[in-house]
Amino acid sequence: MLDKSNELAAWDRDHFFHPSTHMGMHARGETPTRIMAGGEGVTIWDTNGRKSIDAFAGLYCVNVGYGRQKIADAIAEQARNLAYYHAYVGHGTDASIRLAKMIIDRAPQGMSRVYFGQSGSDANETNIKLIWYYNNVLGRPEKKKIISRWRGYHGSGVMTGSLTGLAAFHNAFDLPRAPVLHTEAPYYFRREDRSLSEEQFSQHCADKLEEMILAEGPDTIAAFIGEPVLGTGGVVPPPAGYWPKIQAVLDKYDILLVADEVVTGFGRLGSMFGSDHYGMRPDLITIAKGLTSAYAPLSGVIVGEKMWEGLVKGSDELGPIGHGWTYSAHPICAAAGVANLELIDELDLVTNAGEVGPWFRNALQQAVGGHRNVGEVRGEGLLAAVEFVKDRDDRTFFDAADKIGPQVAAALAERGVIGRAMPQGDILGFAPPLCLTKEEADTVVAKTADAVKSVL
Ligand code: PLP
Repeated sequence: MLDKSNELAAWDRDHFFHPSTHMGMHARGETPTRIMAGGEGVTIWDTNGRKSIDAFAGLYCVNVGYGRQKIADAIAEQARNLAYYHAYVGHGTDASIRLAKMIIDRAPQGMSRVYFGQSGSDANETNIKLIWYYNNVLGRPEKKKIISRWRGYHGSGVMTGSLTGLAAFHNAFDLPRAPVLHTEAPYYFRREDRSLSEEQFSQHCADKLEEMILAEGPDTIAAFIGEPVLGTGGVVPPPAGYWPKIQAVLDKYDILLVADEVVTGFGRLGSMFGSDHYGMRPDLITIAKGLTSAYAPLSGVIVGEKMWEGLVKGSDELGPIGHGWTYSAHPICAAAGVANLELIDELDLVTNAGEVGPWFRNALQQAVGGHRNVGEVRGEGLLAAVEFVKDRDDRTFFDAADKIGPQVAAALAERGVIGRAMPQGDILGFAPPLCLTKEEADTVVAKTADAVKSVL
């Protein structure tokens, strides 16, 4: 007779269609099924009682760490009092109103309102609709194209998958190519012209963007979307001067900036928002993951004052905005968000990310940075990556098919630490909970060095 976890594993193979998973291999049982059961702080365990340090905070989202009673209590209390009421036609709850205020209080200057959704993907879908609506209201129906970047990640929906500049999210899906354009990623490590300084490379990226805008016609370009630090595209912080140079081009052609802060929002870089960290002046900010630390699914679009005025004008002319989700501002998720933001303040986690992040990355650099197969150790705050190369001196690179990242991630998992093999195949990413201590960081680094040695 099957024990319970074997029975669950069989049900899993037979019935559960997993996201971002090789469907055939999983169904045939060729890839392992790990059934997660509990967590505390940075540690999680599975149904076999095997513990791991989760150095990727789930999918860079469990920012306050696992097992936080305060958030669990807030969720339970909200469920008991009022599990649901919608937010249409001006309805709210104590939690959703309070959370909107808390977000605006923490947001970069000039932000006005929060529109709530469920996921980062739907928040970016909202952004696209708001941008198009805004330009229609302003009487510029041609100004509709949105520029994203190769290696950007903005979601998996039909339009947001188009914004995402990663091949796997396009291949065989027939996603609409227009009205989305992709410009160069600010990927200094892989720049073609090796003679460029960081500032010069940033200028090159801004020049490329301007060339694209001029080629398409500035009157056709509505917005530019970017993550302050490229996340799923390989954990790539911008080179020096990048965002101010991009911002100058956008300002010149009256193009809106969407800061996709799904990963960077609420402290991951050691600042409350990446926009403040890099001096971006966004018109819209996408938030999700860290908003509730994933204790409940909640996302949002923070709308800047200029856009808000346009949207109000739109309502005055056209009536109520035709855009809404049943679960927008879901009270249980909002209650989780309020408790989560309070906890971030109480535990001073933004400061911790700013202190433990550099400690972690320095230790990683010391431990593996000199390895002939490590091209670069990089990151910002508590986001870090190790990029593997065939030979650092010859600058030859692995193919994705070499699966070096997955091999190192698997070796690391055997040693009790979860990192993430980024989709490119040669990058190991880290985004631990923001409560990581220096001692825990040292453990992650020691295990990583050991895992790298075992594979390379
Ligand atoms: N934007 C960024 C920067 C992300 O990293 C992600 C997810 O990882 C998304 C959007 C999409 O969020 P979700 O998976 O909640 O739809």
